[in-house]
Amino acid sequence: MIAVVVAACMLAIAGPAPDALDVAWPAEGFPTGRATLVEVRSAPARSPIVSLTGSLGGRAIVAFPASGDRRRWLALAPVSIEQKRRQLPLVLDATLQDGSAVGWRKPAPVIEAPYDERHLKVSKKFIKPSVAQRKRAAREAKALSVALATVTPERLWRGSFARPTAGVETSPFGTRRTYNDKKKSRHLGLDLDGAVGAPIVATARGRVALATERFYSGGTVVIDHGHSLFTMYFHMSRIDVRVGDVVEKGQGLGAVGATGQVTGPHLHFTVRFGELYVDPARVLALDLSADAVDVPPVVTRP
Ligand SMILES: [Zn+2]
Repeated sequence: MIAVVVAACMLAIAGPAPDALDVAWPAEGFPTGRATLVEVRSAPARSPIVSLTGSLGGRAIVAFPASGDRRRWLALAPVSIEQKRRQLPLVLDATLQDGSAVGWRKPAPVIEAPYDERHLKVSKKFIKPSVAQRKRAAREAKALSVALATVTPERLWRGSFARPTAGVETSPFGTRRTYNDKKKSRHLGLDLDGAVGAPIVATARGRVALATERFYSGGTVVIDHGHSLFTMYFHMSRIDVRVGDVVEKGQGLGAVGATGQVTGPHLHFTVRFGELYVDPARVLALDLSADAVDVPPVVTRP
């Protein structure tokens, strides 16, 4: 009986075979409120990667091949802006061309990204909506939740993200705002300046999930890019697309406006990954050009 226990322990100490996957991330680690690019390669002695899924701290990542031979993959891994833990498990599950299933799991370092703190004085109508307005906003929030809960299993976009409008950045993502020393909120989008009527385009290919007028966000378009990645466009003066339309990267969605609860015309642009909002400026800056390579379909052996 004892001999069996000892043998089991020795097996555990010996550990698994050398990693079949080489995994690399930026030296700074995984900042809060961002989607970080992870590079995954199949080890030289192993066969190419046919499929790759995974999670960081239990949140799904989005992975795609980044070389024609399928040996190099990239994955976007989001971290909540409110994440307090400084280490999260990064879990990868790959299927290799030889049919073997490969699991990989290691702790990944999380760092706290700096976000601003602002104290604002605003007029009462921004703070206290009427009962009817509150009811309307609650209905609209529910409709948005339903749209965002839709999981499109295929990835509809490829390559780097396009800037949705030409204007300069006027308010960054992540600022913690306190209104009249009372109500607190996080700014979970990026504000881009623009005159009423300035064009807004789709940041990436996707399907229009919502195109409507809302109390807080005014003229609103939500695009589903697949794999629970969504982008949102708020305060639009004009909407040129309809729910269900498939829009290409750079295709017009409408125009900048000052609709909803705002003080002036601008685009509030949001990127949502699963249940997390991430910094749109960082997403726009990602070089995903390797995603544009042609990857031949996998030939499975009988
Ligand atoms: Zn905003």
